[in-house]
Amino acid sequence: MSEKMKVAVMEDVRKMAVWEMDVPEVGPGMVLAKIYRCNICTTDWQTWAGLRASQGRKFPWAPGHEMSGEIVAVGEGVRQDLKPGMRVGFGSQGSRGCGQCIFCRKGHPSRCINKPKELERSGVTGSFGMAQYFLVEATRVYRLADDLPFEQGGYLEPVATVVHGMKRLRVQPGDDVVVIGAGNLGLVNAQVARVYGGRVMVSEISDERCGIAKSLGFEVVNPATEDLKKRVLDFTGGKGADAVILAVGSTKANQQALEILAPMARVLLFAAGYPAPELPIDPNTVHYREWEFIGTFSADPADFEVAAKLLSERQVRVEKMISYTVPIDDVQRAFELAATPGNYRVSLSMWDQ
Ligand SMILES: [Zn+2]
Ligand SMILES: [Zn+2]
Repeated sequence: MSEKMKVAVMEDVRKMAVWEMDVPEVGPGMVLAKIYRCNICTTDWQTWAGLRASQGRKFPWAPGHEMSGEIVAVGEGVRQDLKPGMRVGFGSQGSRGCGQCIFCRKGHPSRCINKPKELERSGVTGSFGMAQYFLVEATRVYRLADDLPFEQGGYLEPVATVVHGMKRLRVQPGDDVVVIGAGNLGLVNAQVARVYGGRVMVSEISDERCGIAKSLGFEVVNPATEDLKKRVLDFTGGKGADAVILAVGSTKANQQALEILAPMARVLLFAAGYPAPELPIDPNTVHYREWEFIGTFSADPADFEVAAKLLSERQVRVEKMISYTVPIDDVQRAFELAATPGNYRVSLSMWDQ
């Protein structure tokens, strides 16, 4: 009889459960990892809350892509530097490609046009990160520092998506960058923009979140109580922001971004909003002021490599962004907490009770 493991499964909207499944066997080119923590992503709890019905997700679904753990077995033909006992994080399913299409050949498998299908096990599809063991292609395994706590290792995928966006935004030394929103990904964006050489100001309406942004060393503005435009002009010597990162998906945030742009500024639309927010913009202004609007989504393997370093070297710090740790047996409560406004990540613990 094969060994069993716990897997968190979304059976329906607002209904998480723990299922028992066989621990997968490691085959050629594959790695089996023991998972210690999996953080609940915004996309996970929004699907649970029924906010993403337009995406057509079918249940039962096994969520979870922000996990980290330790290698327990490697299959034949796996590269030599991956060894049992090593602490690792994982590239998302979305970072896999066919290797053949034009986007894969250009180094962007996240844009593959022959996307491999989602995993399926025991009649359940999903990414299967909220489980005690995880079987994965060795090409999706990234080494993390031995002393990086597992719940912080769970930030590998979000940090990789931020690195991907930062490359698209082309932040350089000397750029004045304003990040709108100090949620999880706002604070990660602010830190990665700083690594890329930006002078960063964070705009956030919650005093508590302003405090966390300050403690990470950022200039902070609260547009609910201060004049955003004036503060940005003061910060940037009167010219406005060279780059704005929209880390919240809201019409209000979009409007704020348009008020603080320097000539030739670039705007990164990092976050989606449900329902879709508006971007009320006059094309003539875009023309005369030479603005750029840039979308970003997902991450490629090269972005995961950078993200693994930034986390391992603590150039990006995420310890203040874990609001709760909850055992997998209480996964329903964990999703309720994740969906509660004001909370940062909720981390599922796979083994301790
Ligand atoms: Zn995520
Ligand atoms: Zn492809």
